[in-house]
Amino acid sequence: MLKASLRSHLTLWFAGLSLLTLLSVGFYVGHIATEQMKQASGNALLSTARSAAALLGEQLRERQLEVYLLSRAPHLERGDLDNPAILKSMQLRTQARAEYAWMGVADAEGLVHQAVNGLLVGQSVQQRPWFQAGLRNEYTGDPHEAVLLAKLLPGLPNGEPLRFIDFAAPIHNADGQVIGVLGAHAHWSWVTRIVESAAVSHKDSAPDLEALIIDHDGKVLYPEALMGQQVAANDPNSPGWTVGDGYLTSRVTVPTPSSTALSWSIAVRQPLDTALQPARLLLYKLLLLGVIAAIGCGLVAYYLALYLSRPIEQLARSAKRVQNNQPGAHFPLQHPVQEIAQLGQSIDAMTQSLLGKERQLQEANASLEATVAQRTAALTQANAELLSLATHDSLTGVFNRRRFDEKLTEYNLLFRRTGRPFALLLIDADHFKRINDTYGHAIGDDVLLQLAQLIRESTRSTDFVARYGGEEFAVLLPEVAQPDTPEVVAEKIRTAIANAHFPHVGNMTVSIGIGLADPADNSQTLLIKRADQQLYRAKAAGRNQIA
Ligand code: GH3
Ligand code: MG
Ligand code: MG
Repeated sequence: MLKASLRSHLTLWFAGLSLLTLLSVGFYVGHIATEQMKQASGNALLSTARSAAALLGEQLRERQLEVYLLSRAPHLERGDLDNPAILKSMQLRTQARAEYAWMGVADAEGLVHQAVNGLLVGQSVQQRPWFQAGLRNEYTGDPHEAVLLAKLLPGLPNGEPLRFIDFAAPIHNADGQVIGVLGAHAHWSWVTRIVESAAVSHKDSAPDLEALIIDHDGKVLYPEALMGQQVAANDPNSPGWTVGDGYLTSRVTVPTPSSTALSWSIAVRQPLDTALQPARLLLYKLLLLGVIAAIGCGLVAYYLALYLSRPIEQLARSAKRVQNNQPGAHFPLQHPVQEIAQLGQSIDAMTQSLLGKERQLQEANASLEATVAQRTAALTQANAELLSLATHDSLTGVFNRRRFDEKLTEYNLLFRRTGRPFALLLIDADHFKRINDTYGHAIGDDVLLQLAQLIRESTRSTDFVARYGGEEFAVLLPEVAQPDTPEVVAEKIRTAIANAHFPHVGNMTVSIGIGLADPADNSQTLLIKRADQQLYRAKAAGRNQIA
């Protein structure tokens, strides 16, 4: 799925929807305007066609009436087709009205008796449709080219053939018998001028307006260029006009005298393009307005989206920072949109809580490490104490019997290798039992501690002092050479003790037995035995002695 930012989503949706809405409205309004324009233009065409048809109908009726009235002249009724008064009347008519090209009287056989300007007099018009129709009834005919008169009349300036429409009326005698026909030819241009003049008054509002004359078959009679083309009848659904062939056309029947068979109509038409031009302009304007409004809406939407999306983008960025453990995460806490503010506050609170928990965890870790270090140190110390306990006497602090045995073995091994002798002093407190008995065991213990201190102080740090048992101590001397011979060291110890003051007890003495390592010894117990024997001798000699 394509991922786009919130702001592009919002902008596209807003702009798209507004464009869609405005275009729909534009098209709808444009459509309505087009329909109304069509209606208005159609009605205008209809009224133009009506006035042209009315005008033409009136003119045709008048001409027909003139011909009829002339045909009823008293001379003619009397059968006097050659009476000059008739010619006089015809001349007056044609002089008064320029549209007449010819007017004359023919007898029942078609022979022309009299005619204005003497044209066609003596010739036969028996084959002419107007004559044949005129024998039966009043007649107004479709236009036709001049057949007989063409040679006799001056042509048109543009070279086109002369065209006429014919009027005719039968001449009856007193008995009602048809004795001839009175006919007249009117210039077709007269008819077309009438139609044009009626249309001209509307050409100001519609310059490309066209007026057409249509015959009874629906074919164009005028203008020449369109002659013979079929023109559709009015749309039965519209009041007096129709749309077709790119034109808006209105057709109205010309009211002609009922006595004639003439059935023309006038069509007034206008290209649809020009008729609907204003509506189309309106549509274009609406569409342009729609596009401009959509751009405007898009811009507004963009800024609105920016306004909405900025805090959300900041939220996303800050959340990413928190996720990546980067500093600088900052959540928007204030926003006019309630949900955005709530979101910011909640995530901020969650983050603070998360960071707090993390800090607590780190602190717990640190304190755990400190505790471990502390415990390790305590353990090390306990181990050291344990080690010390394993090798030292708890009461006096000097080495214990176990350590003494180990040390003696070491000295013996060293002695066998190097041959350098070492000495053992066995020191026993004199009459110690009495001290316990007299002052108690605790005081006895204090005395033992003081004795050990005195022995240590009287020996070198390289000498080895241990509690051998009860109130007996052993000292191993690695060097036996002058000046610190074993006797000297033993004497030093003896005097230090003898001269010392013991709280509660007063004075104390010890007896000391000296043993020297001997290469002949095959067991280390022999040395102890010798020292012990010497101790026994010292005791026996009266105590506070060295032996
Ligand atoms: P001598 O050696 O002079 O012959 O007489 P003595 O009284 O010192 O000899 P003995 O061996 O009979 O007595 C040793 C006494 O030392 C017996 C015992 O009660 C005492 N003793 C042994 N170990 C300790 C000790 O750790 N603390 C105390 N207070 N007394 C102890
Ligand atoms: Mg003893
Ligand atoms: Mg003793």
